[in-house]
Amino acid sequence: MQAGYTHLDETIVALATPPGMGALAVLRVSGPEAWQKVDSVFRSARKGRGLLGSKGYTLHYGHLMKGEEVVDEVLVSLFKGPRSFTGEDTVEISLHGSVLIQRAALDLLTGMGVRMAQPGEFTLRAFLNGRIDLTQAEAVADLIAADSDAAHRMALHQLKGGFSHELSALREQLVHFASLVELELDFAEEDVEFANRSELKQLIAQASGRMQHLIASFRQGNAAREGLAVAIVGAPNAGKSTLLNALLNEERALVSPVAGTTRDTIEDSLHLGGYRFRFIDTAGLRETNDVVEQMGIARALSRSAEARLVLLVVDAAEVDAARVAEEAKRPEWLGKPLVVVLNKTDLLADDGNAPAEALRRSGLEVLCCSAKEGRGVAALKKYLIDEVNQGEAAADDAVVSNIRHLHALEATHQALSRVGAGLDARIPGDLLAQDIRLALYHLGEITGTIHHDELLGNIFSRFCIGK
Ligand code: GDP
Repeated sequence: MQAGYTHLDETIVALATPPGMGALAVLRVSGPEAWQKVDSVFRSARKGRGLLGSKGYTLHYGHLMKGEEVVDEVLVSLFKGPRSFTGEDTVEISLHGSVLIQRAALDLLTGMGVRMAQPGEFTLRAFLNGRIDLTQAEAVADLIAADSDAAHRMALHQLKGGFSHELSALREQLVHFASLVELELDFAEEDVEFANRSELKQLIAQASGRMQHLIASFRQGNAAREGLAVAIVGAPNAGKSTLLNALLNEERALVSPVAGTTRDTIEDSLHLGGYRFRFIDTAGLRETNDVVEQMGIARALSRSAEARLVLLVVDAAEVDAARVAEEAKRPEWLGKPLVVVLNKTDLLADDGNAPAEALRRSGLEVLCCSAKEGRGVAALKKYLIDEVNQGEAAADDAVVSNIRHLHALEATHQALSRVGAGLDARIPGDLLAQDIRLALYHLGEITGTIHHDELLGNIFSRFCIGK
């Protein structure tokens, strides 16, 4: 982060629309001199009417002037701080979207000492001016980047405040207790207890439970953002690549009748039911002496361990139910939803009913399909959506999607556990207060009550310029 990034006394400008040609372009100017600077290069269509005497939240038609030369015909929107996105006086100038005009308008303003904004600087100002907390600022970036309904829904929820209201309330309660415990220290000789220990214990237990819940929601939140990883595994030639193609409906993976051709992992994604699924087509699992193939298999297994769901593809003509049941118990897939996709059922007279039944008797979930003919693929897609929906908590429940929040929540949870243990062991008040303060610190990190420049730099540099 460059020096001055957090200096709010400077007025900044950036294009709020994507660079390049468009029908319109919007320049955003924010800061103490925003109105003044724009006013000095704006000539209203109404004679004698300047921006400075105008009210906020009004629209003005006129020309952008470089001396006596007209740069463009523009519309200017005025926003008065603190009731603006950044919390500062802000002006948005709608220009014609030629690259030349955009450049000229920017030059005009920077020539008057308005500084070019850095990535995310408008949102950073909104945060520094107390308009939004840090999780909401991050949600703005997420919202812009959201590429699935689920990610979009989650970013909007977070933008509205998400779980940060809840954390702030918890933080207040903890601050209250911390100050009572600290007050006791001033009366050490008198041996008084201002902070009701059993109430504190109750609060800690409740808060710990909530932290755990939020931490657990991360898996789901991450899925919405990054896409849900689905591993496609099984013996060589079972039809994994064909299945992937059928799911994606195009020829992505290499299909060949020679066993062991998919040596590396292939990834591709697909939107289903508002979620993004990332499919990982892996090297066929079998005993082999080929070193390269062994490496592929080892990689396939470790990749499949990261997946949320496992599709075990089995050739319907070669079903050994006991072996498949054994295979399904691989430690890498423990605890993950696993479905046996019984493939090539087009080659069997009974559409694979007999082997499917044998597999079900071994306690496996089975879906019959013919990847080649595209049969059973719709049912498989439905299975995937249902599986995720089942795992999803109630629609408006808070979901943690950000790794930074996750780490802070984990640290908070740990600190709270220490407070709980300290209460049980009846440790002295000064130590107890220290543990509560630590929990407060980590809680504050999430919403930004506690922040430092490096953290802000990390977060806001991910934004685009003009946001
Ligand atoms: P992988 O090694 O598991 O990825 O298997 P592939 O997808 O490369 O398929 C191996 C062979 O099985 C290819 O010749 C496919 O055309 C064939 N195959 C895959 N799925 C089906 C199916 O549903 N029915 C039939 N008849 N052949 C299939």
